Amino acid sequence: MKSAKLPWRHRFSLRIKKALGKNIFLCDSCKWNWRGACHDPARPNATWCPDYEKRGR
Ligand code: SF4
Repeated sequence: MKSAKLPWRHRFSLRIKKALGKNIFLCDSCKWNWRGACHDPARPNATWCPDYEKRGR
């Protein structure tokens, strides 16, 4: 894990998203979400990632 302590704003928004039933996993919309590109052990269920980039940009 890259960051043990998540920023409070991120933890807060995660709670809201969970409560609303939204998808909290970043990898689903990340352009690095394939085996050859991402070696982060948190993939495919990362909820916080400094390397995240939205797919389709
Ligand atoms: S870079 Fe981060 S968000 Fe993107 S696939 Fe890898 S772990 Fe998931």
